[in-house]
Amino acid sequence: MFRRASLRYAGFTMHELLITQSILDIAIATANEHNASRINAIYLVIGELAGIVDDSVQFYFDFLSKDTLAEEAQLHFRREPATATCQICTAQTNVTPPLIASCPACGSPRIVISGGRQCHVESIDID
Ligand SMILES: [Zn+2]
Repeated sequence: MFRRASLRYAGFTMHELLITQSILDIAIATANEHNASRINAIYLVIGELAGIVDDSVQFYFDFLSKDTLAEEAQLHFRREPATATCQICTAQTNVTPPLIASCPACGSPRIVISGGRQCHVESIDID
């Protein structure tokens, strides 16, 4: 089984560096498609369980965006709640760590995390 490990450097994780690079790549590609001269803002949605710290993304973004269309862009973060889905009754519940051990609707322990692990660019604001 492959296990993912986070590399820590100066308190931040490689995980966030790679994610920030992806965010920047997506924003610049989208801006280029629209012949934009600059990116004013980038709106991000980050799942509660994605393991991403806003400050780390901002830190890497300030560094990576230099001399790009996104150099002056403001980052906006929206947190998406984690959800769990019951495999027995299919009830979906918003959860916050520590995660629940059984389904609040039917009591079954067969619940799986179904949302809140992802991070994506929702929209960008361009000139
Ligand atoms: Zn259930």
